[in-house]
Amino acid sequence: MSERDDDLKQEQDQDRQDQNSAGDGQGDGGSYEEICFVCRRPESKAGKMFHLPNRISICEDCMQRLMDQAAQFDYNGLLNNPDLLKELNKHGMPNIGFMNIGDIANGIPNSQRIKKRKEKKEGEEPVFDIKKLPAPHRIKAQLDDYVIGQEHAKKVISVAVYNHYKRVAMDAKDEIEIDKSNILLIGPTGSGKTYLVKTLAKLLDVPLAIADATSLTEAGYIGDDIESCVSKLLAAADNDIDRTEQGIIFIDEIDKIARKRDEHHHAVGSEAVQQGLLKILEGSEIEVPVGAGSKNMMVPLARVNTRNILFICGGAFPDLNEVIGNRLKKQTSIGFSADLKDKFDQDKNLQKQVTTEDLKKYGMIPEFLGRLPIICPLESLTKEMLVEILKKPKNAILKQYQKLLQMDEVDLEFDDGALEAIAEKAIEKETGARALRAIIEEFMLDIMYEIPKDDNIGRVTITRDYIEGKGAPVIEVRTAGVPRIEAMA
Ligand code: ADP
Repeated sequence: MSERDDDLKQEQDQDRQDQNSAGDGQGDGGSYEEICFVCRRPESKAGKMFHLPNRISICEDCMQRLMDQAAQFDYNGLLNNPDLLKELNKHGMPNIGFMNIGDIANGIPNSQRIKKRKEKKEGEEPVFDIKKLPAPHRIKAQLDDYVIGQEHAKKVISVAVYNHYKRVAMDAKDEIEIDKSNILLIGPTGSGKTYLVKTLAKLLDVPLAIADATSLTEAGYIGDDIESCVSKLLAAADNDIDRTEQGIIFIDEIDKIARKRDEHHHAVGSEAVQQGLLKILEGSEIEVPVGAGSKNMMVPLARVNTRNILFICGGAFPDLNEVIGNRLKKQTSIGFSADLKDKFDQDKNLQKQVTTEDLKKYGMIPEFLGRLPIICPLESLTKEMLVEILKKPKNAILKQYQKLLQMDEVDLEFDDGALEAIAEKAIEKETGARALRAIIEEFMLDIMYEIPKDDNIGRVTITRDYIEGKGAPVIEVRTAGVPRIEAMA
C-alpha cells in the first residue's frame, strides 16, 4: 500500500471512530456537552446536534442556515464563467491546505467543554444531603486541625456555611426563603483569611475560586471582568455546572475597591466594581466563558446561576481602626478623649468592634454591604499563636521539615527558645504567619545542605542562638551508646 493510501485509511478510521464517539458525548463517557461548531452554543441550549466527521457538531438551526445558503449559491453560474475559471487556473485553486478543519474541531479542548447537566430523577439524593452535612461544631473541629486561633471567626464561618448549605439543600421550594449568608472577613494580612476559606472548601469538598478584587474591572476595561471569578469557579469544578453552582468564591483585597474617602469627584473604577459585584453576590443567571478568562467568538458560553454560590470577601482594611476609634471616641465623654486615643491606637484588635456603619464610612457602598450580611473580624496573630502555627497544624511547617529529614534518618528538633525567636522575627515583618516560612527557609538551607553530607548525624536541635546568628545548632551523632554532642562547624 502506498503512503498516500495509508494516510487515507488512517483518516477514514479516525472519522469512523469520531463518529461513533460523537453520539455518546464525544467519547468520554458522555459527560461533556457538545458545542455547535458554528454558533458555539452548547447542546443544552441549541438542542440536537448533527455529527460530522472530525468531531464537528452542528446544531439544527445552523445546519438549516447552511443548507439554505448552499441552496442559493449559484454553482453553475460560477463554473460557466470562463473569465473566472481562467483566473482560477492561472493561480491554481486557492490553497486552503493550511487550515485543517480537523485541527479546529479537535482543538476544542476539554477545558472548554461543559459537563452535561445531570437530569434530576425522582427521589434522587441532592448533592448536599442535610443529614450528611457536618454540624457547625464538627466543621469547626475540622478547621481547628489546620487553623490556629481565630476562634470567633471559625465559629461564625462554621455556622454560616452550615446554614448556607442547608439553604442550598432546601432549594427554595419552601415558602420561607432563607437569605444568603455571604461573608466578609476582616483581618490583617497573613492572619489566615485565605487559608481559612481554602481549608473550608477542602473539608466540604466543594470547588473554590480565589479572585483578587483589584484585578476586577467593569466589562470593557483592561483587566478581568467581574464575571471572570465565576468562570474560574467553573474551571475549578471541572466545567461541571451543578458543582459550580454550589461552590465558594473568595474575593480577596476587597478593601481596595472602597470608594476613596476624601475624593469629591465621582469615583468611577472601584465603586463601579462594587456595583458590578452586586448582581452576582445576590444571585443571578450569568453567561460565562468556558475555559477562558474573557468572552470571545471562539469560546463557548455556559449559563451559571450564582444564587447558591457562597461568596466570601476578605480584606485587611488598614485604616479601619481609625474609623472605629473615631466613632467610639464620639460615643464616650469628651474629657477622656486624649487617653482614649492612645488606647484605641494601641489596640490591634479594635476591628472586633466593627459595624456596617464603619465600613460605609470606609467607602463600601451600602448595597454591597447589604449583600454580605456576615461580618467577621479576625485577630492579629500573637507570638504564642505564631509558635503554635509553626508546630501544631496537621501540615505545620516544622512537621514538613521533620518529615524531609526523617528520610535521611535524622531527627529534627526545635527548642522552645528557637520557636519564639522565629515568631519574634515574623512579628517584626508585619506580614502575619506569611513571614514564617520565609524565615525558616532562610536558616534551614544550611541544615538541609550540610546534614546529608554526614551519615553519622542522628539528631539536629535548632536553638535560639542559631536563629539569632549567635551560635550553631546542636548535632548529635548516631552511635551506639551515649550520643556524642558536638557543634556544627
Ligand atoms: P491572608 O489573611 O492575608 O489571606 P493567608 O491566609 O494567605 O493570609 O495566610 C498565609 C499563610 O499563613 C497560610 O498559607 C497559612 O499557612 C499561614 N497561616 C495564616 N494564618 C494562620 C492560622 N491562623 N493558622 C494556621 N496557619 C495560618
